[in-house]
Amino acid sequence: MTTNRTFTMIKPDAVEKGHIGAILEKINSAGFKIVAMKFTQLSKGDAEKFYEIHNERPFFADLVQFMTRGPIVAAILEKENAVEDFRALIGATNPAEAAEGTIRKMFATSISENAVHGSDSDENAAIEGAFHFSGREVY
Ligand code: ATP
Ligand code: MG
Repeated sequence: MTTNRTFTMIKPDAVEKGHIGAILEKINSAGFKIVAMKFTQLSKGDAEKFYEIHNERPFFADLVQFMTRGPIVAAILEKENAVEDFRALIGATNPAEAAEGTIRKMFATSISENAVHGSDSDENAAIEGAFHFSGREVY
């Protein structure tokens, strides 16, 4: 089953640099509708659970440290073909490889501090959205 929703986070590096407004503007301009949004900070347990799939990777401890060091913006976005289109809008994981005009090309500094998260499948979009939002927080 496909859905028209994806889940995103504006990561601590982009929040620290004051890029929340510019990133939300890119998201809106690309035709995504925000159906849920909050400003929050992940606990160590939250980050470990959210990025569980990477827990054997050498960068896992650094990833958890990074994602918990300051607040994030979490949001659920709606658009036709949301998951794929949002991955195209954010660009490659490594900003050095991200296409011109993508959010990571514009705002990320490295492969580890890469400004935004985007779900990689409809299934994960639903799981990640439910991780951050209750039903009554989604409009
Ligand atoms: P995200 O899931 O945050 O949207 P992604 O799907 O582009 O990013 P993943 O492979 O899921 O990339 O990696 C999750 C996160 O782990 C990356 O966004 C990045 O912060 C970090 N990461 C991934 N690969 C590396 C690496 N080789 N070195 C350091 N950090 C990495
Ligand atoms: Mg990923």
